[in-house]
Amino acid sequence: MQTVGHLINGQTVSDTARTQEVYDPAQGRVTKRVALASKTTVEQAINSAHAAFPAWRDTPPAKRARVMYRFKQLLEERSDQICALITSEHGKVLSDALGELQRGIENVEFACGAPELLKGEHTKNVGPAIDSWSEFQPLGVVAGITPFNFPAMVPLWMWPLAVVCGNTFVLKPSEKTPSSTLLLAQLALEAGLPPGVLNVVNGDKEAVDTLLDSPIVQAVSFVGSTPIAESIYTRGCASGKRVQALGGAKNHAVVMPDADLDNAVSALMGAAYGSCGERCMAIPVVVAVGDAIGDALADRLATALSQMKVGPGTVEGNDMGPLVTRAHFDKVRGYVDAGVHEGAQLVVDGRQVQVKDAGDGYFLGGCLFDRVKPEMSIYRDEIFGPVLSLVRVPSLDEAMALIDAHEYGNGTCIFTRDGEAARYFTDRIKVGMVGVNVPLPVPVAFHSFGGWKRSLFGDLSAYGPDGVRFYTRRKTITQRWPSSGVREKAVFNFPSSQ
Ligand code: NAD
Repeated sequence: MQTVGHLINGQTVSDTARTQEVYDPAQGRVTKRVALASKTTVEQAINSAHAAFPAWRDTPPAKRARVMYRFKQLLEERSDQICALITSEHGKVLSDALGELQRGIENVEFACGAPELLKGEHTKNVGPAIDSWSEFQPLGVVAGITPFNFPAMVPLWMWPLAVVCGNTFVLKPSEKTPSSTLLLAQLALEAGLPPGVLNVVNGDKEAVDTLLDSPIVQAVSFVGSTPIAESIYTRGCASGKRVQALGGAKNHAVVMPDADLDNAVSALMGAAYGSCGERCMAIPVVVAVGDAIGDALADRLATALSQMKVGPGTVEGNDMGPLVTRAHFDKVRGYVDAGVHEGAQLVVDGRQVQVKDAGDGYFLGGCLFDRVKPEMSIYRDEIFGPVLSLVRVPSLDEAMALIDAHEYGNGTCIFTRDGEAARYFTDRIKVGMVGVNVPLPVPVAFHSFGGWKRSLFGDLSAYGPDGVRFYTRRKTITQRWPSSGVREKAVFNFPSSQ
């Protein structure tokens, strides 16, 4: 059986002392193993990145960007192979794998703008014959730690931008979905990225802790669940690193009485059940403003769910694949049981789903709960599965109070035809990414991605302009070249431009 290894200094390396099973979730069987890097292996990767840094730092940004142009082309040429790997380990339908890859490619396109992004700021004559400028210098060795649910896109949020800014990188992907992430790194080498500039180590807590404690690693980008994000932020900051740690979510969609209901329902179906609900921008809560809209939503969503096709992600026409692992399936199913026990009304029960050719796959049909209350676990917790909770409130203010009181603040959206209500909502809601009749307001690559509250630890969001700031350090230089013969006497007052 194949063991997925690491990529260190341009070489495939595998330490097989500790390995873990990798599943095909559609069949429910082990298809490969992944090597779990030891502290020594991770240190080799860090040292490789450290050794590659001086030459890469001095490589002109335009040359660094040219590697990304070639890399983008390879990603497009090899997209079928990449998407097949994503689906074989994650389970999402192939068209959705292609969607995540496309979003990742857009981040590579943004990184191609490195010469423009790194131009800095210049002011002539800040004082008599004195010029001043700010430049954005790379940090050195940067680490990225990524989740299972976007094995192509989330790594592409991080390392292309970090490396075009002149850093070198050690990536620790999710051990559940390692293969596509590793292939992407191999394509970067093929595109001309020098060995050591990007290193990939598969692994678990041992690998992560080694990265967090290393004095060589200057900064860490993390994307994953909130408890781990918080611990990474705390430990990384304690060892003096710059850390951005993006965590979990519980995104609410508000549906106003005047909403275009047909569009709202089809948008909610994709946002709640796409990728089996395993997206940090998924919509697991819909808040109906008024009982009339609540009744209409429950009816129409139930009808739409009866038409949703559940099955292997490789079969064309399926809308939703399996959950990622047996353990995650059991957890999500446990929440459905808890919702029933806690008194929510289970309008559609996905536990009974029948799937053709499912083998022992981890399939759960779409579930819909009505009359969900804020104290229930299905409302409070991030379930990360195909479970949509319908909550009913009498007014927009009460919908917003509910959202603001939730511990997470990643994304939200409102469905309405009323511009004033939309403006009130977008202006005041305490959430980082907001949609108006857009259910998944994931910012495009030239904006930045980040939630509020316990969905993001750190000050700068991921990718886009914030990404450039995160992966660089500002240096401001003030310069004078005195002409011969003109010398100032000693000046003891604080220099000013007066
Ligand atoms: P996870 O937190 O279990 O794992 C994320 C990464 O952390 C993996 O690389 C994993 O190996 C590592 N890790 C896990 N346990 C660790 C530990 N104890 N110590 C050190 N490292 C550890 O998350 P996941 O299940 O892979 O992904 C799903 C989660 O990610 C969800 O909560 C989802 O909302 C979140 N997510 C957030 C965003 C965002 O942008 N905010 C995007 C995608 C996913």
